[in-house]
Parts: sequence; C-alpha cells; structure tokens
Amino acid sequence: MKIAVVGVGTMGAQVLWQLAQQGHDVTGYEIFSPGHSNGAAGGETRLFRTIQVEDPGYTPIADRADDLYRKLEADSGLQLREITGALVMGDADSPDIQTALRAAEASAHPTRILSREESLKEFPEFGLDPNDVTIWDGHGGIIKPELTVSAAAAQAERHGAEIRRSARVNSIEQAGDTVTVTADGRSESYDRVVAAPGAWTNVLFPEMAELLQMRRLVSAWFFPKNLGYLDKVLPFLRTKPTYVYGLPYADRSAMKLGLGSDADQAVPSPDEVDVRVPQNLLDQFISAVERYMPGLQLHPMRSASYFESFTPTGYEYVRAHPEMPGVIVMAGFSGHGFKMAPAFGEIGAALALGEGPSVDLSFLEA
Ligand SMILES: Cc1cc2nc3c(=O)[nH]c(=O)nc-3n(C[C@H](O)[C@H](O)[C@H](O)COP(=O)(O)OP(=O)(O)OC[C@H]3O[C@@H](n4cnc5c(N)ncnc54)[C@H](O)[C@@H]3O)c2cc1C
Repeated sequence: MKIAVVGVGTMGAQVLWQLAQQGHDVTGYEIFSPGHSNGAAGGETRLFRTIQVEDPGYTPIADRADDLYRKLEADSGLQLREITGALVMGDADSPDIQTALRAAEASAHPTRILSREESLKEFPEFGLDPNDVTIWDGHGGIIKPELTVSAAAAQAERHGAEIRRSARVNSIEQAGDTVTVTADGRSESYDRVVAAPGAWTNVLFPEMAELLQMRRLVSAWFFPKNLGYLDKVLPFLRTKPTYVYGLPYADRSAMKLGLGSDADQAVPSPDEVDVRVPQNLLDQFISAVERYMPGLQLHPMRSASYFESFTPTGYEYVRAHPEMPGVIVMAGFSGHGFKMAPAFGEIGAALALGEGPSVDLSFLEA
C-alpha cells in the first residue's frame, strides 16, 4: 500500500508512526513542520486523564494510548508525559461527573472520590461550588504536546516515512481506486489517504462544513500571588457547565488555564484569524480565577490562541470521507483528543489498511 497522511500534527504524526513501523510506503504532508504550535497541539502542556467524563467508550482508547505513549517514550528516549495525578471536579449531579464517578469506580488505575469538604482540606488551592465533588485520578498527568508530535514524526522517519515539510495540500481527489494528492502544484497518486488537517479540515474539505466547526481555543498563563501556592498543585479539569482546566509549569512557578466552549470562538480557519487574544475573551478568565484558583494573580502573564475542529456532538469524525471511500478523515477531536492521540493513530492506520479498529468505535456515531 502506498499511503499519504495529510497533516502531520497530533493525529497525523501518530498515524504516520504506526504505518511506517508496519513497513508501509508512507508520505506525510505538513504545512509547517511536525511539532509546530499553530494548530491544536500548541501551548506546551495537555492534560492526560484516565477518568473520562465525556463517554465511557473513551476509556479503552485512553488505556491503549497510555501503552503507546510508553512505547513512543521508549523508542524515542524522550519523556513525553509526567504522571503527577490529576483532579476532575464538578457538580456531583451533572452528567459529566456522573460519568466520571462511574469511570472511577470501574477504573483499573488508582482513584479516590473526595467530598467537597475533604477536597478543600486536601487540595486547598482550589475553590469549589457548593455541590462539587472531586475525583483524584492517580494515573493522570501532563503531556508535552509539541514534543510528542515531533517524536512520533521522527520515529516515523526512522522507519522510512517521508515527510514533506512546508507543503500545503490544496486538493485530495479520488478516481476509481486511486487517490491523488496535490500540494503546491505537484500531484501524486496513492492507494489510500489519511487526512488529519485539524482546524484546516473545512478548507481542504468544504463539503464537510456541515459536519465540523473550527474554533479558536485560548490558553492563558498566570503567576501565583504568593510563592508556594502552586507547589503541590495538580493538573485539573472542572467539568461543564463551569468548564475550566489547568496545568502547572513543571517547576510550579505558573499555571496555564483554559476555559470551555462559551469562551471558544468559531473561526473560518486559523489562516484568517488575528492570533492576538481579544480582551473580551481574557476577561472571562478573571472570574474563573477568582472563583476556582483564588491564589493566582488575576491578569495573565501570557495568552495564546490555538485552533481545534469540533463536531456538533463532541464525538470525533474518524471514518471515510463522505464521498471518497479511499480517504480516511480524522477530525473533530472537540477539545479532548490529545490524551488519546497515539491510540487514534493506531485506529487511523488500521482504517487506512482496511482493517477493523482494535476498539469499539460505534459510540462515536451514536
Ligand atoms: C488549547 C487547547 C487545549 C487542549 N487541551 C487538551 C487537553 O488538556 N487534553 C486533551 O486530551 N486534549 C486537549 N485538547 C485537544 C487536542 O489538543 C486536540 O484534540 C488535538 O490536538 C487535535 O489534533 P489534530 O491532529 O486534529 O490537529 P492538529 O494537531 O492541529 O494537526 C493538524 C495538522 O494538519 C496540518 N494541516 C492542515 N491542513 C493541511 C494541509 N492542507 N496540508 C498539509 N498539512 C495540513 C496542520 O498544519 C497541523 O499540523 C486541547 C486543544 C486545544 C486547542
């Protein structure tokens, strides 16, 4: 099989690594270079959770990703994650926390459920709402996203993949069994294509605009008011409707925060956005800081825009293109894909080869 992977970002790099390892003839196309921070993988940290709040169907995918992160670390010699433990917090009666509580009870990893009072005592850095509960995810932690993409791409190249950097694919067309990829005026034919163009999906496939929405997601970094406030802080996620997540610097000198979909902005594509963060978006961080991390300074020392593709349901689109059966599209990771990326890479590779995925994906189409 001669296979192209279009977009060597979070998902594409993992697909490329899987296919190259298996000895296939694979070529990756990337507008920038693997490990860049212009799309969905920027900002130095991502939360790794074994407790899934969105759907129990993600648990085996995250568990498989856990194995593959370890393999990628062993193969590359790089530390891609720090397993610190992580917290999931939110209203005890909300659907996401109900899903998380069931996941914690069924988990093969160490977990603990803390009442509001227990949580305030053990994790005093965090403010809580009256009906909140906290779940400690003992195998949660922090992923280094740019390094992970770069490592997967480098391992793919080590196994013989070719990566075309600074190469923007303008069109993908299928005629019979052949798929033609055209990048910067040069066309090449493949048996199969895996397209993982992230927030550029609707530029490449305008016909999928009904299925996917591109959004700007803002990250903002804060110093603590007093030294020591972040010394023992764990990465965390507050679930909807008060969605906030946070990741500390490794030296605990600052904390990165992100907000939920009220603060996310629909955009046509990353190419058409002024990446400076508008003040009205930054203002939304101030009330989150006051309420949930009152030991942080109110104003960020840094902020940045990243771009992600969303589906209306939040379940990713990982299947053939609606009109081109030889093109597997991987998009719509809806703000939660990084932790599972190596497993989705394996799934994308299997689909490209015409094999069934190793985990049940039927819930994605529910
Ligand atoms: C700010 C932010 C915070 C997040 N936090 C978390 C978290 O804590 N935990 C978690 O699990 N998930 C998190 N996510 C979600 C996760 O990061 C994304 O789901 C994941 O990175 C999506 O990967 P992707 O491959 O779809 O996109 P990308 O990583 O952006 O990859 C797409 C790639 O395709 C390339 N490309 C696009 N078009 C073309 C073309 N025409 N030709 C060639 N190349 C092309 C792009 O340059 C890019 O490299 C977060 C997302 C964001 C934005």
